[in-house]
Amino acid sequence: MAKFDYDLITIGAGSGGVRASRLAAGYGGRVAAVEESRVGGTCVMRGCVPKKLLVYGANFANHFEDAAGFGWTVGEVSHDWGALVNAKDKELDRLEGIYHRMFRDAGVTTIDGHGVLADAHTVEVAGKSYSAEKILVGVGGRPFVPDIPGCEHAITSNEALDLKELPKHIVIVGGGYIALEFAGIFNALGARVDVLIRSGSILRGFDHDVCDALTEELEKKGIAIHRDCTVQSIEKKDRNQFSVMVDCGEEMIVDQVMYATGRSPNTKGIGLEESGVVTNDKGAVIVDEWNRSNIENIFAVGDVTDRFNLTPVAINEGRVFAETFFNDNPMTLDYTNIASAVFTQPTVGTVGLTEEQALADHDVKIYLSRFKPMKHTLSGRDERIMMKIIVEKDNDKVLGCHMVGDDAPEIIQGLSVALKCGATKAQFDATVGIHPTAAEEFVTMRDAVPQAPSKA
Ligand code: NDP
Repeated sequence: MAKFDYDLITIGAGSGGVRASRLAAGYGGRVAAVEESRVGGTCVMRGCVPKKLLVYGANFANHFEDAAGFGWTVGEVSHDWGALVNAKDKELDRLEGIYHRMFRDAGVTTIDGHGVLADAHTVEVAGKSYSAEKILVGVGGRPFVPDIPGCEHAITSNEALDLKELPKHIVIVGGGYIALEFAGIFNALGARVDVLIRSGSILRGFDHDVCDALTEELEKKGIAIHRDCTVQSIEKKDRNQFSVMVDCGEEMIVDQVMYATGRSPNTKGIGLEESGVVTNDKGAVIVDEWNRSNIENIFAVGDVTDRFNLTPVAINEGRVFAETFFNDNPMTLDYTNIASAVFTQPTVGTVGLTEEQALADHDVKIYLSRFKPMKHTLSGRDERIMMKIIVEKDNDKVLGCHMVGDDAPEIIQGLSVALKCGATKAQFDATVGIHPTAAEEFVTMRDAVPQAPSKA
């Protein structure tokens, strides 16, 4: 008789939990996954996937505008927000079905409901107890909204994906990934968008040239970015309107207020504290490089650990967990040179160190290019691409690549392989470009730019 019901119970069937569960079951483990919402988790059901579908929908607005320069008469266009949301929902239903099928095929038991750790080996779901040798916490995060008067009127990315109507005028608080991606979606579809950031710049932590170039492009598109601006209160008015009081100007009357001010680990009410699992001051589970918490048989992967809160990172953490503990193949994840993207219009792609990070430990050379993409010579759109390479002076190693422009995520994904291999600038230069592309600029930048004295 087995000592436990399962070898592994995963709490949370999101990106990390799904990958770990499927692999562990594939290696012969008896696995159950507990999910209180929809299998697939934040990325597939409430994040990356539905957001990207809306981005695709929004981008047509730019394509229609650009078409005239190539001889097209597009005529009057209109957009049906409800149709886009319905199409997106249909796709999510399809994906959820695929996830359930993948679990079934892998032999993973799905347990519907809210999982609570009762002790180090027991998870309770809807009054039933299930025991496991190992428990993996992969419950992800949830939107964080600061506690200000009227904050209950604000929506987050969860609701923004399912709005019944496209807002005419929306205030978006925050200047990170989510705020800017939704600003792009709503703006392209015709809403008036005000972005409020509490500091002087969007995308804190990104390279300063990325921040400057993207700010310029977003403002050209009509997105108003209010710097050093904090919301004091939100009040509901008549006719579904809201009054937003800010400390940087006049009251704003809008029909939606959205907060995209970061996400918090989803660890409340799942019995971690009671079971002795140590979390940090944000509520994130503290784990070692093997994704192990302070309790020997309890592990955590993904956003709940608040390391790199990106889907592919969670997936890979799930993978190395399963390899290590269910395939006798000890693996840890290398967190260097993880590429990421912001799906704005235009997009951002970035990998490696920013100029600011590089200068902390290295002497660097900077290669920077700003140019008009060929497409816009005919479309007439006033949009420029920014590309930047950061190179270590002593050994010529490329430390970082950054881009603002169409297809940046697709281009940077390839370059991230080069950085992972430790490519030098000489090897970039020895690479023959593909002409005519924007990407070829990354292998044809010849002259380093002088650095600003303050940064040298
Ligand atoms: P981010 O951490 O990226 O940005 C949060 C923004 O909110 C910052 O501009 C921050 O300002 C601001 N902020 C934080 N607290 C307050 C406050 N109390 N009042 C006013 N402003 C505040 O979080 P997001 O919500 O955009 O995204 C959450 C996570 O989801 C990201 O970390 C990212 O990893 C992931 N994600 C990734 C995507 C992708 O890969 N394309 C897409 C969407 C999300 P300041 O800079 O001053 O701190």
